[in-house]
This record gives sequence, C-alpha cells and structure tokens, in this order.
Amino acid sequence: MRNDLFIDGIWVKSEKGGTIDVVNPATEEVFHQVAAGTADDVDAAVRAARKAFDQGEWPRMSGSQRGQYLRAIAEGIRNRLSELARLEVLDNGKPLPEAEWDIGDAAGCFDFYASLAEQLDNKPEEQIELPDDRFTSKVVKEPVGVAGAIIPWNYPLLMAAWKVAPALAAGCTMVLKPSELTSLTALELAAIAEEVGLPRGVLNVVTGLGSEAGQALTDHPGIDKLAFTGSVPTGSKVMAAAARDIKRVSLELGGKSPFVVFEDADVEQAVEWIMFGIFWNQGQVCSATSRVLVEQGLYEKLLSRLVEESGKITIGNGMDKGILLGPLVSAKQHKQVTDAVEAATQSGATLAAGGRRPDALQEGYYIEPTVLTDVPLESAAWTEEIFGPVVCVRPFATEAEAIALANDSRFGLAAAVMTKDDARGERVASALRAGIVWINCSQPTFTEAPWGGYKQSGIGRELGRWGLENYLETKQVTKYVTEARWGWYIKN
Ligand code: NAD
Repeated sequence: MRNDLFIDGIWVKSEKGGTIDVVNPATEEVFHQVAAGTADDVDAAVRAARKAFDQGEWPRMSGSQRGQYLRAIAEGIRNRLSELARLEVLDNGKPLPEAEWDIGDAAGCFDFYASLAEQLDNKPEEQIELPDDRFTSKVVKEPVGVAGAIIPWNYPLLMAAWKVAPALAAGCTMVLKPSELTSLTALELAAIAEEVGLPRGVLNVVTGLGSEAGQALTDHPGIDKLAFTGSVPTGSKVMAAAARDIKRVSLELGGKSPFVVFEDADVEQAVEWIMFGIFWNQGQVCSATSRVLVEQGLYEKLLSRLVEESGKITIGNGMDKGILLGPLVSAKQHKQVTDAVEAATQSGATLAAGGRRPDALQEGYYIEPTVLTDVPLESAAWTEEIFGPVVCVRPFATEAEAIALANDSRFGLAAAVMTKDDARGERVASALRAGIVWINCSQPTFTEAPWGGYKQSGIGRELGRWGLENYLETKQVTKYVTEARWGWYIKN
C-alpha cells in the first residue's frame, strides 16, 4: 500500500504535511496512513502538470498515441482487478462483488476514452459556412490545459477514471486529489500510469484534506479547468474559487432522486429496482433512489413487499461472502445517516423498516436498510440528501401529482418511472426535470451515455462524448482567402 504523493512522475514525501489515518469502516481499525498534502505539494504538482502541458509531448501527440497509453492503463487495472477491488473494500467498506464491478467499469472507462482519443485523429475538420466568400472558417478542438480533479469517496477508483480518462484522452495534463477517506486506489492508478510509461507530469496525484490540498487546487492560478464531484456545499466553494480567475468548471453534485411507480407496474420488479437503487453501495450513491412515489392502488402492497425484502438484506464486512450491505464509509457518515433517520421520525415520519445498528454488528459503521413512510414534504428527510440506505416512500393519486412531487426538489440529477403503459412512461420521463431518467429500471449506468444533473445537482456532463468535450476548448480558425484589400480605410 502506497502513502507518498505522485508528482512529476516520481513518488515524493509531502514536504510539510502530516498524515491521514486510513480506517477500515468494517472494523474501525486504522490500517494505514496516507500523506496529508499541503498547498506546497499541490503547487509542485500543478507546476509539473503545467510544464507537461506547455512544453511536453502529451497535448502534441496524436490521439491514437494517447489512446495507446489509455489502453495500457485499462489493461493495468484489469491485471490487478482483484487486488484493487480488495483495497477498495478495505478503504470504503463496499461488498467485494460491487468493488470488482467498479474496478472493471474503471478499466472499461479507460478503454472507451482510448477509442474517443483515436477518433479525434480521424474527425474531418468542421468547416463553417460564412456569408462572405473572402473567408473560410473551420472549428478545431484543443485540450483545455491543466485540469484539477477533485473526487469523493463513494466510488474511489471509478470516479477517478471518469475524470482522468477523458482528460488524458483530450490531451490535458492533470492533478488528481482523491477523497481523504479513500485515497488508496488513486495512488495505485498513479502506479499503473508510471508502469505504462505515461510521460512525466501528465498525471499527478496529491492526497490530502479538502480544506487544504483541495482548496489549494481550486485556488491555483496554474489550473485551467476544475472538475469536481462531491457535495453541493463544496461544489459551491469550488465554483466560487473558479469564478475568481474564470477557470472552466464542471460539477457533479448530490441528488434526491424520485422513482415514480404506477399501479400497473410489476410489484416484484419495482421492489428489486428500488432496493438496488437505495441499498447498492450502502445508498452512498449520488443518484440513489431516495424518494419513491407509488400510485395509491399499489402503495400498501409495494410497501409491505419492500419492508419484507429489506429485512432479508445480508449486512456485514464487505470482504465476507454473500454480503449485500457493508458499513458506511466513516464514523462521521454513520452519525449523519443515523441522525437523519432520528430527525425524520421526530419530524413525524414512520420507521417502516430498519433505522438501527444491527445487534450483531457492534463494531463498524453499520446501519440496517431503512424504509420511511409518512415523511412530511417540508422535512429534511424528504428534501435533503441522506447518502445512506434510507428510502422515503409516499403514495400519490394522479400522474400530475406524481410529477409535481418528483420535481419539487432543488436537485435534478436522476429520476425514474415504472409503468407498463409505454406512452405514459415516455410522457412522465419528459416531464421529469433531471439529467438522467430511467424508465422501468433505476441506476444502470453506461460509460457511453451522458451523466450529470439539472438544477443544484451540477453543471456539465461526464461520460460519453460529453465527458471528452468537458476537457476540450473550441477554437475557430478563420482565413482571409483573397488578395483584395480589406478596405477599412482604402477603398478597392
Ligand atoms: P465532499 O464535498 O465533502 O468532498 C468531495 C471532495 O471535495 C473530497 O475530495 C474533499 O476532500 C474535497 N473538498 C472538501 N472541501 C473542499 C474545499 N473547500 N475545496 C476543495 N475541495 C474540497 O463530498 P463527499 O462527502 O466526498 O461525497 C459525497 C457527495 O458527493 C454527495 O453529496 C454525493 O451526492 C456527491 N456525489 C455526486 C456524484 C455525481 O456524479 N453527481 C457522484 C458521487 C458523489
């Protein structure tokens, strides 16, 4: 397990920084320490990335050449899939099969952007039709420069891949700051980049606290673009920092995603998608299915099946076989989620299932899968992101009411609708104000499709070709193609 910083192609100690304890959320044991990078370390990393961008080969080589490096990184991740997945479980707590899924997805993300990098070479130049034939004009895409990426702890390597792969494909160089809670696989990603011979300074990884290393990165004048995933309050700070010197910024923030289930839906299908949507990754998912709206006629049946099935979820150490729900990531997160459940019941909500630490698990940051009903619309449980395995379920009477309730949120990341009536599914999907809408399912995520939110859930889109565009500037090149004088002061 690594603990140094990766700056300018070499592993270095933090100059003045201390260390951060790495805690196993399943046991509460400190099993490692990583460097608490400082503003000086961030400065060294940005300078290295700056040099690699301004003077290095990376932005100047062909897309296919960059693609080869990305494919080699994908291969490096795949070769170590099992080791990386185990590290992720130790660091984050998630069940091992989920971690294996994430690591496979991270490798797939590098492959996908390798293809897009290769395609950059073959794209025909986009010519612009001008109303004046003395000119020709074309549009070219160029890398935005040095990217600063700040990521959260819920999908540590996957969130890194979502930023590093498109940024490198575009020809950017970068500094990545992982979450202080889950830095281990980001350091391994740097090691893989080193192994495949990525040119020095192209990818730098600085571990550290958000308030120190994170803020230093957002404030650094050498950064051209900030790419952030995390909470709304931090996203707002990142955007304010970006505003000071007009850095490009993309934000992937929180959500309170609704799932509208109509009476004609198959109740067993609905229960499975709801449980996957809110208990997968312990509910620590930005797009988690946290508000379920059920048409009156199906409400009681669906609720009783959901409560029954929630009680069957196996809870325990993510390393153990057959576990579906691991611990939350940290003591702080555990307290936030249990406090939120308590505040919900105090505000009038009913605890239909879960809400407690399982009796058999007195160590580790565990909480049972939790189902809340009668949640007041103005309460925090209904309006705020809990980021844990807690779902609020509520009946509705009409399609219009369901849409109004679903859209009544400051978030707009994701939403879902379930019905056998195709026309209604499409109609409701188009009325839902969210960047991602699922019909008859909830949560499946594809590297090929755009990911991002409306409203306070963010700005910009990751994944797919949109993810690449995040790291590209648009340049017009306009040429005067006649010998004739322009004639501003001398008439032809
Ligand atoms: P967070 O905002 O606390 O931290 C995110 C990152 O920002 C961490 O690396 C942290 O160190 C850093 N940071 C903290 N303060 C900073 C500052 N002042 N300046 C710069 N960086 C700073 O979020 P979290 O608790 O790590 O993650 C949970 C949140 O992330 C949830 O709200 C969730 O919805 C969101 N999330 C969104 C998506 C998405 O795609 N939309 C994906 C995953 C998580």
